[in-house]
Amino acid sequence: MKEVQERIERLRSELRYHNYQYYILDNPSISDHEYDALMQDLIALEAKHPHLITTDSPSQRVGHTPSAKFASITHGEPLLSLSNAFSKEDLHAFFERVQRQAGHSISFVCELKIDGLAVSLDYEEGLFVRGATRGDGAVGEDITSNLRTIRSLPLRLNSEASLNVRGEVFINRAEFAKLNRQREEAGESIFANPRNAAAGSLRQLDPRLTAQRPLDMFVYGIGSASGDALQTQNEALEYVRSLGLKINPTFKVCTNFEDIMDFIEDWQDKRNELPYEIDGVVVKVNDLQLQAELGSTARSPRWAIAYKFPPEEVVTRVKSIDIQVGRTGALTPLAQLEPVVVDGSTVSRATLHNEDIVRDRDIRIGDYVILRKAGDVIPEIVRSLPEKRDGNEVVFQMATNCPACGSVTVRPEGEAVTRCVNSKCPAQLLEKLIHFASKGALDIEGLGPSNVTQLVESGLVKTAADFYNLTKEDLLSLERFADKSADNLLRAIAASKEQPLSRVLFGLGIRLVGAEVARDLAMAAQSLDKLAALSKDELQKIPSVGGKIAQSIVDYFADPENQSLVEELKKHGLKMQVEAPAGTSLEGLVFVVTGRLEGFSRAEIEGFLRQMGGAVSSSVSKNTNYVIAGPGGGSKLTRANELGIPVLSEIELHEFLEERGVGFDKS
Ligand code: NAD
Repeated sequence: MKEVQERIERLRSELRYHNYQYYILDNPSISDHEYDALMQDLIALEAKHPHLITTDSPSQRVGHTPSAKFASITHGEPLLSLSNAFSKEDLHAFFERVQRQAGHSISFVCELKIDGLAVSLDYEEGLFVRGATRGDGAVGEDITSNLRTIRSLPLRLNSEASLNVRGEVFINRAEFAKLNRQREEAGESIFANPRNAAAGSLRQLDPRLTAQRPLDMFVYGIGSASGDALQTQNEALEYVRSLGLKINPTFKVCTNFEDIMDFIEDWQDKRNELPYEIDGVVVKVNDLQLQAELGSTARSPRWAIAYKFPPEEVVTRVKSIDIQVGRTGALTPLAQLEPVVVDGSTVSRATLHNEDIVRDRDIRIGDYVILRKAGDVIPEIVRSLPEKRDGNEVVFQMATNCPACGSVTVRPEGEAVTRCVNSKCPAQLLEKLIHFASKGALDIEGLGPSNVTQLVESGLVKTAADFYNLTKEDLLSLERFADKSADNLLRAIAASKEQPLSRVLFGLGIRLVGAEVARDLAMAAQSLDKLAALSKDELQKIPSVGGKIAQSIVDYFADPENQSLVEELKKHGLKMQVEAPAGTSLEGLVFVVTGRLEGFSRAEIEGFLRQMGGAVSSSVSKNTNYVIAGPGGGSKLTRANELGIPVLSEIELHEFLEERGVGFDKS
C-alpha cells in the first residue's frame, strides 16, 4: 500500500510540475500525449484506491493557480476542464451513460476542439467589460486589456445583451509560422506550437505586445445569460453568432453514435486542412436543461467529453545521421530526414538522443521510419520499417572522435552518452554561449543561435564576458547589423546585467545545474562567492542537490578558466548576490502554509516568513494574502479558492521570494 501511495505522490508531483510549465510558463517540456498518459495512470490508480484521493490531486483540479502577476477575477460560473475519451470505447461509455441518465435517447452537438487557451468574456448591456483566463477554474487572471486587442472579439455586441461567454483564443498555423520566423530572425526563442504561442501572447503583462500577435478566437458556449430562454447548445451557438461573436461553423447536431463517430473520423482525416490546430472533438449533450441536471464534478462537466485524436504518425526516410555536440560535450545523433508534414508542420530532422536508442530501435541510414510529433513539440522516430530495406542501409556508428574538434570521445561506464571532453572544443563553446543568452538564462533579446554564431565566427566573442565588451562599431562591422539593430542588441545586453543571481548561475552552464537547481542554489547561498566556497557536503544540504550535482558544482569552481570568467562577469556588473531592494520584505503580508512541502519542514518555512517580516496564520480568511500549499493541502486550499486568495506552490514560492529579493537560507 505504501508503494501505491508513493507512486500516486510521484505522479501528482510530476503532473504539478508539468502543469506549472504549461499553464504558467507556457513552455511545456513533455508532449500532450505523454502528459495525458501520466494523468491516465494517476486516474486509474486513484480509481482503484479511492480513499487515497485528495482534493488537491491534479486529477481533481482544473488548470493551475492563477499567476500572481495578474489581478485575479473570480468566475461567476466555474470554467471547467473536460473529461477525455481516447478510444471509441471510452466515447461509447459516455454516450450510453448520459442516455441512461436521461432515460430516453437524446441529441448531441459535436464541435471541433480548438487547441488554444480558454477565456471567459463578460458583456454588460452589449459592451465588453471584462475578460479572464480559466486559471484554476474558480479564479482566473484578469487579461481584459489584452483581450481588447483581438480583432475578432467585438468590443460592442449587436444588442444590449448582458452575458458571460466562453471561448478559445488561438493563433492560426500560417500566422504561427510567420511569428516564429520573425522571432528566429530576431534571435528570439521560438514557440513550441500554436497553443503556446497563443497562451504566451495573451498572458503578456504589456497589452501592446499582445496587440502585435495575430490572435483570433471562437466562442463555444454561454456561462450565464439574462433573459433569453435558450433550449439547446446549437441554439446557444446560433444566438452568440447573432450577437456578433465568432463561432466555429463546423459544429453538427448528431442523434446517434454512428453520426458522432463519422464526424470524428472525418475531422481526424481533414484536420491538417484547417487553418488552425485542433486536438480532438468535443461531444456535448445538446439539451441545456439536461446539461444542468447532469451537473459537473470538481474538474469537468458530466454532459460533455473531449475525444482526443491520437498522435499522427507518418512514414519518411533517414537520409543521414549527423552528430551534434552539445554545451556539455554530449554527442547526440541527429537524423536528417526527407521532409514530411506531420501534425501540420514540416519536419526534416529528429534527435535520436544517444547511440543505445539508435541501436535499440534499429534505425539505419537509408531506413524508412515511422515519425510522430511527441507532444506536438519534438519530432520523434518511433521505429524503423525493416521490411522496406533494400540492403543499402548503413548501420550507425558513434563517432570515436569529436566531429567539431577531432579529440577522442569518451563514453563512461554505465552511461548512455558519449562525450567530447575537450574543454576548448569550439562546438561546445558556441553552445555554451547560446545557452548563456537564452530565454531561461540571461534572456538577451536578439542574441539567438544565429547571431551568437556570427559573433563567434567573427572572433568578437570567445567567452560570455565578451558579450559585455561589444561596442556599436563591433556590431556594425558585421553583415547582420544596422544602426537600430545594433543599438537594440547593446541595450538588451546591458539590461541582462539586472537579471537575478539564479539566472546568472543557470547561464554559466554548470553541468547538471538546471533552472530549478540554480534557483535553489541562489536562495541557499545568497551569493556566488559563498556558493563557490561551499564543500560537497555543504552543497548536498541544499534542496534538490544530490551527490552528482554537488560534485559538478565543486569541479566547476575549481577550474581556473571558470574562476576568471566569473571574475570578468563580476567586473561587468552582473548580479553576483541575491539583492533585497530597499524596503522590500514580507512586511504586511499574511501567509498560511498547508500541505507537505518537499524542500522545507513546516517550522523552517514559517520561521523564515516571520523572520522576513511576514505574519503566519493557521487559518485562511479574507485577511490572508497568500496560501503556500504542498500536496495534501485539503480544506485550507478549498477555502483559499473560495475566497480567491492566490495559492503558491513550492516552485512559485521560490520565484515569489526571489522577485522580492528575499532569499531563503536553510543553513
Ligand atoms: P483540455 O484541453 O483537454 O480540455 C478542456 C479545454 O478544451 C477547455 O477548457 C477549452 O479551453 C477547450 N476547448 C476547445 N474547444 C472547445 C469546445 N468546442 N468546447 C469546449 N471546450 C473547448 O483540458 P485542459 O484542462 O485545458 O488541459 C489538459 C490538457 O492540456 C491535457 O490533456 C494535455 O493535453 C494538455 N496539458 C499538457 C501539458 C504538458 O506538459 N504537455 C501540461 C498540462 C496540460
